[in-house]
Amino acid sequence: MSATDRPSRALARAGAVLEIDLAGIAANWRGLAARLGPGTRCAAVVKADAYGLGMARVAPRLAAEGCRLFFVATLDEGIALRRLLPGIEIAVLNGLLPGTGGEFARARLVPVLNSLDEIAAWRAGARTRRLPAIIHVDTGMARLGLAPADLAELARAPSLLAGLELRAVLSHLACADDAAHPMNAAQLAAFRAALAQLPRAPASLASGSGLFLGADYHFDFVRPGAALYGVNPLPGRPNPMAQVVRLKGRILQVRDVDRGMAVGYGAAHRMDRPGRVATVAVGYADGWLRSASHRGTAGVAGQRVPIIGRISMDLMTLDVTGIDPTLARPGGFVELIDETHGVDEVAAAAGTIGYEILTALGRRFHRVYRDEAA
Ligand SMILES: *Cc1c(COP(=O)(O)O)cnc(C)c1O
Repeated sequence: MSATDRPSRALARAGAVLEIDLAGIAANWRGLAARLGPGTRCAAVVKADAYGLGMARVAPRLAAEGCRLFFVATLDEGIALRRLLPGIEIAVLNGLLPGTGGEFARARLVPVLNSLDEIAAWRAGARTRRLPAIIHVDTGMARLGLAPADLAELARAPSLLAGLELRAVLSHLACADDAAHPMNAAQLAAFRAALAQLPRAPASLASGSGLFLGADYHFDFVRPGAALYGVNPLPGRPNPMAQVVRLKGRILQVRDVDRGMAVGYGAAHRMDRPGRVATVAVGYADGWLRSASHRGTAGVAGQRVPIIGRISMDLMTLDVTGIDPTLARPGGFVELIDETHGVDEVAAAAGTIGYEILTALGRRFHRVYRDEAA
C-alpha cells in the first residue's frame, strides 16, 4: 500500500466522515476582526481542542491569518499550543493551580489570575524578572475572577501586583447572547469601575456574542471562540458566521418494516405505516446525544428525513420511506451536519447548544481538513 492510498482506505472503513473547513474558520476570524475599530485586536479561543475541531490544525491556520493572541483553558492545552506555535502569546483561562508556576514560565504561558491567592503564587516566582499576567475580574457571573472585595484590596495595596507585568485585565459576560438583557450594561459598568481601580492595562470584556453588542464592549481586544467555528453568536437571529463542519454518517443497512413494528431500544418507536428504515453508524458514543432520540433530521440526497427511535451507542435509525432506494442504500452517506443544517439546529433537537455539539464530536470519525480559498 502506498502512502497516497491510505486516506481512501481509511475512508472505506469510516462509519462517519467529519470535514472541517480551515479556510472557513479563518474567514470567520477575519470577518469578526473586520467588525472592530482600529484600536481593537481580535484574539482567538482554542480551548477544548478548538471546540472539538482540532487545535493542532486550527490554531496554526489562525496564526497564519494574523491572530497573535490565543486563549486555552488549561495548562496542558497551553503547553501543547506552545509546541505548535513558538512565537505567539498564549493565555490560560483556568488560572494557576498550586505548584504549576514553573511549568507556566517554562512554556511562556500567561496565566489568567482569578484570585488574590493566584496573584500571590505567581508573584512568588517573579523575584528575578517580571512575569506576565492577566487578571480576571468578576463583574457579575460568580464563576471565576476577583470579587469586588479582592479588587478593593488590590486598589488599597498596589504592591500586591509588584513584580507582575500586567498584560491585560479581562472580565466575562454572562448574557451576551441576549442583546436586550440588562446584565450586559450592568457588567459593562462594573468592568469600567474595576478598570479604574487597577493599573492601566489592555482591557477585554467581549467574547463572540459580546462583540456584537457594539463598540462599547470591544475595549482593547475581543476573545471569540464558538463563532469562529460557526456557532451563531446571535441566537434567534440570522447567523452571521459560516458553517465550517460537515458530518456525514454511513448507512449500514436499509430494511423494510411493517406497520406496527418497533424500531430500536425500548421499542420506543412504532411504525404507524409500512415503510423503510436506514441504520446509520453514528451514535451517542460519537457525540450524537441520546437526548436527540426521536428528534431532528438527516439529509439524504437533498431531502430531509426524520431520525426515529432512540439514539444508541453506535447507531441511529432514520425513516427513509419516501426516498428512492438507489439514494438511500447501504454504504452510502447521509448528511448529519452541513451548511443548511448547522450545529445550532442539531443542538436544538438535542435540547442543548452548538458549543456542546461541537465539543462532543466523536473521536471515531474519519477527519478530513480542507483549506480551500472560497
Ligand atoms: C470560552 C470563553 C470565551 C470564548 O467564548 P465564546 O462564547 O465561545 O466566544 C471567552 N472568554 C472566556 C473567559 C471564556 O471562558
